[in-house]
Amino acid sequence: MAAIEKRSRGDWQQLDKAHHLHPFTDHKSLHKKRSRIITRAEGVYIFDADGNKILDGMSGLWCVNAGYGRQELIDAATEQMKELPYYNNFFQCAHPPSIELAAMLQGISPPQFNRVFFAGSGSESNDTIVRMVRTYWDLMGQPERHTIISRHNAYHGSTVAAASLGGMKPMHRQSGLPIPGIVHVDQPYWFGSDQRLSPHEFGLQAARAIEDKIKDVGPEKVAAFIGEPIQGAGGVIIPPDSYWPEVQRICDEYGILLISDEVITGFGRLGEWFGADHFATRPDFMTFAKGVTSGYLPLGGVFVSDRVADVLIDKAGEFFHGYTYSGHPVACAVAIANIKLIQSESLVSRIKDDIGPYLQEKWRALAEHPLVGDTRMVGLMGAFELVKSKDPLERFHESQGAGVVFRDTLMGEGVCMRAVGNTIICAPPFVLTLAEADELIEKTWVALDQSHQALSP
Ligand SMILES: *Cc1c(COP(=O)(O)O)cnc(C)c1O
Repeated sequence: MAAIEKRSRGDWQQLDKAHHLHPFTDHKSLHKKRSRIITRAEGVYIFDADGNKILDGMSGLWCVNAGYGRQELIDAATEQMKELPYYNNFFQCAHPPSIELAAMLQGISPPQFNRVFFAGSGSESNDTIVRMVRTYWDLMGQPERHTIISRHNAYHGSTVAAASLGGMKPMHRQSGLPIPGIVHVDQPYWFGSDQRLSPHEFGLQAARAIEDKIKDVGPEKVAAFIGEPIQGAGGVIIPPDSYWPEVQRICDEYGILLISDEVITGFGRLGEWFGADHFATRPDFMTFAKGVTSGYLPLGGVFVSDRVADVLIDKAGEFFHGYTYSGHPVACAVAIANIKLIQSESLVSRIKDDIGPYLQEKWRALAEHPLVGDTRMVGLMGAFELVKSKDPLERFHESQGAGVVFRDTLMGEGVCMRAVGNTIICAPPFVLTLAEADELIEKTWVALDQSHQALSP
């Protein structure tokens, strides 16, 4: 018997309203409209309870990289559930899926990484990193080194520590965050600046804000810097080329740990296995989640470099930290099948040499539309900016809700993207075909024209 009852859309909406508190949602405004009920998915398309077919330009929530309905992943989960649906990795135990996945991850990660710690999500993984970073410096005899530098508008998750690492002001306001010992500097968002500096100069300046903060806090108190190679939820902020090399220089010079939050950029999205490969940084930690299982099951974790792992192993004694689902066998089995699939279908090089450049070229051309002020995309991770006028540059006021107007219009055309203020962001599955890329772009043009009319005075 099927576990899930078949009901009408209206019944589901009613039950949803009565019993379900959604994440990141204004419930009062949702209840005026009712939820869209997504019932199934195939390839790069999702289907709602009204039978609408929607091209998923966001890979779920940046995670369904291998596309929907992949039999390899379904089989891996089914077989592992029969064999061993759960066992923990505490008390000097382990099981084949957690061991095999750890070894496999070592094989695809940069050379400084030989060990991983598993968690259930990206947020939990970043909590783990806060604990490991501070423990590392305690063990190094520098217990005053506890401050972690992050960036305004960063997204590192939604637990207390992860939201503190993040730089989302509305999140901080609602819960008395950040926790002590976490400070923020400006993000490398050239388009959002006054544009008086060249992108190159601006990138250097944004990196040097980290150095200023280190001097401010006191170099002997700074433990680590954390950043997403490309900020995702903040609006796909692609830093100028000058940024990451300068950040790496600063981390090296002051001996502070570099944390690369690869929850979105990991497992191929930028056309390399990791964002650290793309930007040629040498992080001491990498956070992963989302794409590790293509979102089929929740799994996250942390790559821990030898610099840190060797100290933890040699000196920490018991490290009092872990999760019931650290290395969940079914999630690990799905991750192994997912990585095998990415390898056997050469999806990473496909993004670098084939679908990536193809979509990027069409994406750049959107800048010819009067509503589009800037376009950017690396691999299959992109954004464009809606503007009121281009010359002189005039932005829409937040209250005009231009982003939401466009997003809803595009959804009406059958394509899903996200709006972050007036920035439209896109991150389609790696298996997007050239024809599906054409469909995505054609519908974007149609929605831009319609939105242009709707937003004209
Ligand atoms: C989504 C995300 C997280 C949080 O992951 P969850 O699995 O939602 O806890 C952390 N960092 C980045 C960069 C993310 O995009």
